[in-house]
Amino acid sequence: MSDCIFCRIVRGEAPAQIIYQDEEVTAFRDLNPQAPVHVLIVPNRHIAGVAQVEPDDEPTLGRLFTVARRLAEEMGITEGYRLVVNSGPLAGQSVFHLHLHLLGGRPFRWPPG
Ligand code: AMP
Repeated sequence: MSDCIFCRIVRGEAPAQIIYQDEEVTAFRDLNPQAPVHVLIVPNRHIAGVAQVEPDDEPTLGRLFTVARRLAEEMGITEGYRLVVNSGPLAGQSVFHLHLHLLGGRPFRWPPG
């Protein structure tokens, strides 16, 4: 989508601290970090959110997790990290391009707010 901020980051048209990119996914630092490590991992192809995923997306969705694992190792947070996907406005989704939050570097409580 031409006006989607995460699509523009993937295409290199909007500024971001990209830390990983391959043919399926891109990972970049969150603009408003909620933990010492806060990275967003997004599919390169526009998918609005979990409510829009299709069976054909399964390889891409799997890649989000393998990249999360790899980045968690590289960033030294394997003692504990949290992966979050907000789905819909009531859950706090504010950018409607699917993204996996990778958060680490501090303790996390449960239940979340
Ligand atoms: P969510 O509320 O789950 O949709 O998460 C959206 C996340 O995107 C928030 O944590 C924002 O801080 C982050 N965000 C929004 N715009 C940008 C941007 N241009 N670059 C990096 N992160 C962003």
